[in-house]
Amino acid sequence: MIEYKNVGMRFEDNVVLKDVNLTINDNEIFVLVGPSGSGKTTLLRMLNQLTVPTDGDVYFDNKKIKEYDMQKLRLSMGYVLQDSSLFPNLNVEDNIAIQLEQQGVNKKKRRQRAAELMQAVELDPKKYAKRKPSELSGGQQQRVSIIRALATEPKIVLMDESFSALDPVLRKKSQDLVLKLQKQFKTTIVFVTHDMQEALKMGQQIAVLNHGTVQQVGTPHEIMHQPANKFVKSFFGAGT
Ligand code: ATP
Repeated sequence: MIEYKNVGMRFEDNVVLKDVNLTINDNEIFVLVGPSGSGKTTLLRMLNQLTVPTDGDVYFDNKKIKEYDMQKLRLSMGYVLQDSSLFPNLNVEDNIAIQLEQQGVNKKKRRQRAAELMQAVELDPKKYAKRKPSELSGGQQQRVSIIRALATEPKIVLMDESFSALDPVLRKKSQDLVLKLQKQFKTTIVFVTHDMQEALKMGQQIAVLNHGTVQQVGTPHEIMHQPANKFVKSFFGAGT
């Protein structure tokens, strides 16, 4: 379980998060949604110690995140960014298995695990394992970056606008894939998007942010049918 308790963030005089209180349960997809600059990425980066809150604390399994060993913490969290950010000089198999190597898993097991994961996203290992990222399409690269994040069976996967660069068809396929893999691997996913349709599709719980404050936390149904205020109503009403 992840808990944000009275979390605030200032960059010099600029207050970008104010009194954020959130609880993210195990095995759920929790969406952070809001307009550009509302503080979504800053909240996400607090989970893997890339950003330390200036007020309050974030807890992971009842221990303050800042008290975890950074390397161990990052091994229990996968991270998928907007661009696939694969290592260009490594082939697909090595990209997927790189963190397993850091954990001391032997080469045979690394290969097996990479092949299993590739099959889970319909990439034939015989055809693709030895290819470099540049020899894959954008959608294939994104699938590899998603399974790379799952390779160490992390408790939590952080996804930051992971599908924003994809065309609508690939975006839908990637969303469906993540929904399927989340059930299969029982991972907690913290999912950042500025797209309300994506938020409604992906989230079991959704936190709506504006100007660094949480406007509402609820299920997609609650957010749609019982918006807490005008902002939530207009944000989710705009494109429907
Ligand atoms: P987007 O959807 O555009 O990525 P966001 O909701 O993820 O936006 P953040 O990236 O969390 O928003 O940024 C929130 C605010 O904090 C913005 O006003 C941003 O300019 C500011 N900010 C973020 N990082 C820093 C930093 N390192 N130094 C100064 N200001 C920062």
